Amino acid sequence: MKALEEMKMLIWTAQNSEDHEKRNWAVRDIIEEIQKYHMWKHIAKYTRVTISGLDVEDIKQVFLIGVAEAIPHVDINIGDPVIYLIQKGKWSVLDLLRKHYRNDLRQYCHACFTETRLHEKGGVPICPVCGETGHSGLIERISRNNLDDGTYLNFVSDDLLLEDIVVSNYLVEQFRNRLSGRRREVFDLIMISGYDRHACKNYIKDIADLLGITPSNVNIRLRQIKKAWHEYMYESAVTNDI
Ligand SMILES: [Zn+2]
Repeated sequence: MKALEEMKMLIWTAQNSEDHEKRNWAVRDIIEEIQKYHMWKHIAKYTRVTISGLDVEDIKQVFLIGVAEAIPHVDINIGDPVIYLIQKGKWSVLDLLRKHYRNDLRQYCHACFTETRLHEKGGVPICPVCGETGHSGLIERISRNNLDDGTYLNFVSDDLLLEDIVVSNYLVEQFRNRLSGRRREVFDLIMISGYDRHACKNYIKDIADLLGITPSNVNIRLRQIKKAWHEYMYESAVTNDI
């Protein structure tokens, strides 16, 4: 394993050498070093949370591309530039997972032949399109991991911007465990029961009515959840928790 000073020299060469070949060699050495001594402990968890679609090799590759792309931008005079590069690799993997693993709870209505997000009222599934209720047996729940083709970006209310939450069941569960009280109730109604802008005329009001609180109170909880999510993502990235 190379010493920090040696890594700094390599980064300097990769960024500044006049010699094209030397720059390439330096980039290769940096990547090799990180691949050999750092990569696995930082991506092992990601490989466990993935469910389908991507394999470990994809994740490794994306990690290393993230590292490589960050090399021209890392400042060797601030902190440990190797840690910075590793973080960039991790964020690339997270981005990949966000895009590919939107665990989407869906339901299919056999009355109007429409697939929507899971939606229910009082514990009974209901089709947001035609109003068919689960009592008829015509609403089928489906849970799947969709390869994101751009059509599932509306997983959660646009206000929440929680689409990045849908990395995997693992992350959702970890995050949900951090919420309590009203925040968790609001989160569950949106994420599990499907009360969002796509299923409701006014989901804020619906949630407020269900919980017996005011709509502005719901809005406050949404902001708190969003803030907690960003904190969670940040902490997870810097502590290697994910
Ligand atoms: Zn329907």
